[in-house]
Amino acid sequence: METFGLVDGPGVRFVVFLQGCAMRCKYCHNPETWSGQGGQEWSPEDLFKHVYRYKSYWHKKGQPNGGITVSGGEPLLQMPFVTEFFRLAKAKGVNTTLDTAGNPFTLKEPFISQFKELMKVTDLVMLDLKEIDEEKHKELTGYTNQNILEMAKFLSDNGTDMWIRHVLVPGLTDDPEGLKRTREFIDSLKTVKRVEVLPYHTLGKFKWEKLGIAYPLEGVRTPTEEEVKTAEELLGIVK
Ligand code: SF4
Repeated sequence: METFGLVDGPGVRFVVFLQGCAMRCKYCHNPETWSGQGGQEWSPEDLFKHVYRYKSYWHKKGQPNGGITVSGGEPLLQMPFVTEFFRLAKAKGVNTTLDTAGNPFTLKEPFISQFKELMKVTDLVMLDLKEIDEEKHKELTGYTNQNILEMAKFLSDNGTDMWIRHVLVPGLTDDPEGLKRTREFIDSLKTVKRVEVLPYHTLGKFKWEKLGIAYPLEGVRTPTEEEVKTAEELLGIVK
């Protein structure tokens, strides 16, 4: 948990990180969340009671309204829990944001019915688009991106607000052609409120070492300000 998150949605937010993720993104800075085991066990009621104590932070003068963000790991692996947690939040008028990479998404049952229930109590979805090219996405994360793109379309058609985020790794996720294709895809969506470039950083590297896993991006540098600016331009981000 992070009581005072400033980068995971609008305003000041209480961020809850859930355990469990199937993807293996080469730049993941939370590899400790991959396992479905570990962490603390909470009921949605107890977690909400705990989180709600911080509500005075969420409405600061001159700032957008904050609230609660559920992140991961991959929160779509625990939808009934998140739905109940967000339902309690909405009952108190708290803004709810879901930070997801979309990997579990499918239009098949029982997933899609649970997902629709979750979306009824979700104000904003922050969706990571890691790579627009399917083969490169597989290389980067171990999985296809087709269902993730399908999820973005589903959210757009259902009127759910989205922020799209793209992690920029020099030589890996910064090719101009790919960024242009990403922009075209984003332009086809109707509910995208913001697009963000997240510069790759190595702050999570020590966690890989601690877990005894070889770090796949050894020697890869962080992008320069200029490279970030170029990527933002290609993605049509106006600042
Ligand atoms: S989806 Fe997120 S938590 Fe999962 S491997 Fe990728 S960066 Fe890490």
